[in-house]
Amino acid sequence: MRLTFLGTGTSFGVPVPGCDCAVCTSDNPRNWRTRHGLLLEDEGRRLLVDTPPELRLQLLAAKVDHLDGVFITHAHADHVHGIDDLRAFTTREGYRLPVYVAAEYEEELRTRFAYFWGPDARTTPGSSVPGLDLVTFEDRDRVEAAGFDLETVAFPHGWFRSYGFRVGDLAVIVDAKEVPDSAVPLLQGVPVLVINALWYGNPHPTHFNVEEALEAARRLEAGTTYLTHLTHRVDHADLESRLPAGVKPAWDGLTIEI
Ligand SMILES: [Zn+2]
Ligand SMILES: [Zn+2]
Ligand SMILES: [Zn+2]
Repeated sequence: MRLTFLGTGTSFGVPVPGCDCAVCTSDNPRNWRTRHGLLLEDEGRRLLVDTPPELRLQLLAAKVDHLDGVFITHAHADHVHGIDDLRAFTTREGYRLPVYVAAEYEEELRTRFAYFWGPDARTTPGSSVPGLDLVTFEDRDRVEAAGFDLETVAFPHGWFRSYGFRVGDLAVIVDAKEVPDSAVPLLQGVPVLVINALWYGNPHPTHFNVEEALEAARRLEAGTTYLTHLTHRVDHADLESRLPAGVKPAWDGLTIEI
């Protein structure tokens, strides 16, 4: 299985428009972080995780020419507002793409994207909308998505919940503030962990900071750990030099074999 980090930035992205901080004005391309997206590939099958606002640019950068499924972690704008870009595949190839989302977000997504998921959705002949089929799941479900056997987990995220999963030797936790005790056995000892972290210090109400992400990784006895959903308050090189052995900052375009 191959994992590609399509986007590793927090909801604002990095650089932040109008910001002149050292990270936003850095020459290091690894400080350029688009909003959260992952790509899982195995034997020609491709599963996309989240559809952020920069999705089109991410798909071009990763040379993705086909998708077999999409997993949505939750309905926040930075994770879904690029969903229309999926039209490129479904229109050209003429197929319906399954989009896996927690049942609690179905109504919200059908309302927000009513032009293709609402009761009155229709297309003017000659124009196109994304051909997407919503498939819902629950916390601690098994989801067969694009041939990947995912076990889903809901993570507290302020007033909301964000859904991650374990698939084989990989666990994905994004936009989490906590790992529920009941999820620990599923995630314990996972060889590769992707986990969200904003910055050092100053605890945030809905996201792990770096210290909290490291503590969660230790508690799960995770193997190689990649921090993602990073803000402009962390410089890639500085973060890389400060992290303990086995923990690395992810960056847009990073690909790993699992
Ligand atoms: Zn987010
Ligand atoms: Zn900045
Ligand atoms: Zn969120």
